[in-house]
Amino acid sequence: MTRSGPQKYPGASTSYWYGKKYPGSAMETNVVVWHSTEGRSLPSYGGGGSAPNLTAVPDFAAERLKWYQHFDFDVSSRALVNKAGGVETNTLNVCQVELAGTCDRRNAETWRLGGRTYRAGTDYLYTGDLPGWAVRDLGAFCRWAGEKHGVPLSSGLTFKTYPDSYGANGVRMSGSRWSGFRGHCGHQHVPENDHGDPGSFPMTAILNAAKGGAPDSEEGDGMPRHNNPKVKAAKGRVANDWHTLTFTSTPLSGGAHYSGTVFFRLRGVPAGASVQARFFETTGGRRSKTGDIVERAGTEGDTFVDLSNAGAYCDAKATLGAEYVVFDPRGGRHDLVSGLGQINYWK
Ligand SMILES: [Zn+2]
Repeated sequence: MTRSGPQKYPGASTSYWYGKKYPGSAMETNVVVWHSTEGRSLPSYGGGGSAPNLTAVPDFAAERLKWYQHFDFDVSSRALVNKAGGVETNTLNVCQVELAGTCDRRNAETWRLGGRTYRAGTDYLYTGDLPGWAVRDLGAFCRWAGEKHGVPLSSGLTFKTYPDSYGANGVRMSGSRWSGFRGHCGHQHVPENDHGDPGSFPMTAILNAAKGGAPDSEEGDGMPRHNNPKVKAAKGRVANDWHTLTFTSTPLSGGAHYSGTVFFRLRGVPAGASVQARFFETTGGRRSKTGDIVERAGTEGDTFVDLSNAGAYCDAKATLGAEYVVFDPRGGRHDLVSGLGQINYWK
């Protein structure tokens, strides 16, 4: 068997590489098998003895997945059971990916671990309710596997919630169906196995993201990625003070080159009043950089402000933000009605 195409997923860390210790079998991968680790962080996999090809670990602060690669894409890995006789599993042209998180319905909201209570979506991932950025980044991986290795962006399988997904769950493939399967499935679909992970994994949403809703997958083509956070409304803001724009998600975390515009709409600003806006960066909660001021004038009716940056660098470990001030000698109040950020960035 040959191994065609790029073998390393762009951006994945190889600091936990097990390909030397366990060389595996070369394949031409046409299936991705998804798992969940049932933990919050990168497992040790018994020194690699039960490792998949890749692990995706959530970075909640940066709202992205951090990827670790343990074996080449077209090499068998070790997270499936393979019984004597029957069909092959690990070596049957599958790339296996573990998502650090839990598929157990009992952990849907909170998870008691080591005497502490953690919250889904902020401290750990629950596969039945993944945040949008996790779906986006999983979709980007699917798209790469499709473009570079021809793994079809399809599944056609039902992903059951754990523990209903354990053992003989009604969705596990027969040996013959498994042998002919192409595309994306979960550990719960693999014959000769009992595991029920990755639970009610949002496979359809992930594949939809891969097909077009995942601009992140353009990474590596020199194309920018995009963030489009909304600006939250605020009422009764005072003039002559700087107000931070609150976004529905982080506009950008560094280090990254970016260009972007934040549009926002103010109500109650006197015509002709000066409105100033600027980007800034915070690092560890402190202001670390303040951008150039953009000035606009208040207009009759609502005032529309466009804060643009034609090109800048957001420092490593910094988070991008934006703020504005309305100068009004009479000291009146105004409302922030709505707003939208359009940030293009290159990491
Ligand atoms: Zn598994």
